[in-house]
Amino acid sequence: MSLPTSARLTIDLDALAHNFAVLRAQAAGADAAPVIKADGYGLGAAQVARRLWAEGAQGFFVARLSEGESLRAALGAEHPATIYVLDGFLAGAGPRLAAARLTPVLSSLPQIEAATTFAAASGQALAVALQVDTGMNRQGLTLAEAEAVAQSGDRLRGLDIVLLMSHLGSATSPDDPRNELQLGRFAQVRRLFPGVRTSFAASAGIMLGPDYRNDLIRPGISLYGGGPEERPDARLHAVAKFEAPILYIRNVEPGEMIGYGSHTVIDSPTRVAVVGAGYADGIIRASRNGGYGWLAGERRPVIIVTMDLIALDIGPAQARIGDWVELLGPNVLLDDIATAAGTVAHECLVRLSTRAERIYLGEV
Ligand SMILES: *Cc1c(COP(=O)(O)O)cnc(C)c1O
Repeated sequence: MSLPTSARLTIDLDALAHNFAVLRAQAAGADAAPVIKADGYGLGAAQVARRLWAEGAQGFFVARLSEGESLRAALGAEHPATIYVLDGFLAGAGPRLAAARLTPVLSSLPQIEAATTFAAASGQALAVALQVDTGMNRQGLTLAEAEAVAQSGDRLRGLDIVLLMSHLGSATSPDDPRNELQLGRFAQVRRLFPGVRTSFAASAGIMLGPDYRNDLIRPGISLYGGGPEERPDARLHAVAKFEAPILYIRNVEPGEMIGYGSHTVIDSPTRVAVVGAGYADGIIRASRNGGYGWLAGERRPVIIVTMDLIALDIGPAQARIGDWVELLGPNVLLDDIATAAGTVAHECLVRLSTRAERIYLGEV
């Protein structure tokens, strides 16, 4: 009998398509442009984009210029999607943006200047999105800058503004009054650019209600199975399933330590399974504090996470060397593991490394 030799990451593109449909139904009437920055939240931007194109997505958001270029190459001529680059128009980026037909999201006055200069030199209108900061204080024109730019048409010469957008900072807390504050500010901005399509909501914003959805939603984490409000949402299915085989099973006596540095000392007889995955595979080390795996139909607490090995307390479970333990997936919820690790679901996904074998289900 041969046993598994490596951990595996199964990426279920049918679950992705399901989540896309859930989010679109939630925002009926709006278009949806999936966010596939950071290699599709670590799951493979090319596979994710091709599948979502087949499901009707016509635009995608990436963060970096290089991500936009790779995505354009992966999509090829047969998928002429709009690719928005959140980093915008960095000095000198014009020829590369143009060559890959990317749409920069302009987020500052210097970016607007660089874009108008490039458009003037190329003699062609340049399609751009414009981002306004309505309260996050991270990126985007201030309200005063947006007003100044809108009122002097000259400062946008040569630019074809295809989208006006802003981003919510508190959408995972639906009752936070900052959501309404941002909504009010965005309404002001929209009045400055009549007739331009607008986009406001990422995953969590989509759930805040119709006022937040605008013309185009930008879902990221919820497509990949993360509950938009940083807790599990039963409508969304896990897209990533990470599993590792049991390499060793041992009994540990009270008073013995497990792993490094005697931080973890056992106080009652414990049956431990050690599986072949660790933080080098992207399982966050801090997730031992409340994290769990799934074996023989039950949750099993994680005891320690080291670089290549994870120890779980498996109690009386039926288990043998070579059995698979799920460490993330339909039974080990992304949001639970994120909470255990003191982080967000986004980070749990983007950290998944390429060491494990990757298997795609439902690829087009
Ligand atoms: C990352 C990002 C998104 C997607 O956010 P999720 O929380 O993953 O849905 C949307 N818009 C902008 C501007 C982003 O940076």
